[in-house]
Amino acid sequence: MINNKAEMDEDSEKIINTGCCHDCGGRCVLKAHVKNGKITRIETDNEKEPQLRACSRGRAYRQRVYSEERLKYPLRRVGERGEGKFERISWEDALNHVASKILGIKKKYGNSAILFVPGGGNQGMLHGVTPVGLMLNQIGGYTRMWGIPSYEGALFASMATYGTMMTGSARDDLLNSNLIIMWGWNPANTVWDPGTSLWLARAREKGIKIIAVDPIFTDSAAVLANDWIPIRPGTDTAMLIAMAYVIITENLQDQRFIEKYTVGYDAYKDYVLGSEDGQPKTPRWAEEITTVSEQTIIDLAREYATSKPAALIAGWGPARAAFGEQYSRAANVLCAITGNIGINGGYASGFMRAYSSRESIGSTGKKKEGPIKQL
Ligand code: SF4
Repeated sequence: MINNKAEMDEDSEKIINTGCCHDCGGRCVLKAHVKNGKITRIETDNEKEPQLRACSRGRAYRQRVYSEERLKYPLRRVGERGEGKFERISWEDALNHVASKILGIKKKYGNSAILFVPGGGNQGMLHGVTPVGLMLNQIGGYTRMWGIPSYEGALFASMATYGTMMTGSARDDLLNSNLIIMWGWNPANTVWDPGTSLWLARAREKGIKIIAVDPIFTDSAAVLANDWIPIRPGTDTAMLIAMAYVIITENLQDQRFIEKYTVGYDAYKDYVLGSEDGQPKTPRWAEEITTVSEQTIIDLAREYATSKPAALIAGWGPARAAFGEQYSRAANVLCAITGNIGINGGYASGFMRAYSSRESIGSTGKKKEGPIKQL
């Protein structure tokens, strides 16, 4: 949108509404003040709430646009790999070079030898995967990977557990939680919803306890969390299952929710208690694997199960490994056995596409009942 009055006068400042295209999961509003074709400053959403406020990375976009290090034209490597020697070439040369390489591969090996790995850099936010796929289809097709390296674990687990990828709740609903667990999730860097940081900050101001489980002392852990539990990378599943062990053996599960809304609890219980494979998934067992102390696992399990409604938000990162979907499934199951799904302040951990649930669960100043009534 261009300020009409300003549009009449090139020398005056225009305000152009746009969005931040860092691929962090947010779509925050940026208002670029432009004078004589140059961005002079960037503001964000300052309209009525709920605002889509940009973080400092988005507000600093001007530095990125005018950075000395920004690539402004195609460069061709002329030295050895890693030597850092490049020459400037025209767009026409660059496009011809890439096109001839693609056609050369097609001619020599066939279309299946062209592998398209989508979603890198800003591609997801700026163009999506469709234009590249369409272009490659024009020459007869290409090979695509099965699944998505980024979120396949969470997506698979959400479909397996809930039968939908529309999980989670609107971010403002976090204010209804008694406890928020950020598991392998660093929203200060990857917000996955423009309102996330704001509502987490408000939750903290409200005194809602926030715990971060993460191998790294992330920005989110530093700024938002009351407690940080470091864990050996790739071992999250063991800790989540050991928490289920505590909840089940101490009879802290929400039995009415389990009976009314779930299937397979008895089989899961057999697995957790070790009746199935002879290995009880005790906190001591998990300590060996995760390096998180037995007592910490017990405490977190008790706190999560008894602080209802509690939001366990398991990020995608820990699932980016072999069998990573089991981590996501273990988190989803914890939400289910504690009955923290479908209630305000709870959270169905999973793929985190909260768009649908945003329509049905809460909005600022207007609390609505979740789709599942409190039992
Ligand atoms: S949260 Fe993400 S989308 Fe929003 S301003 Fe920051 S980097 Fe950009």
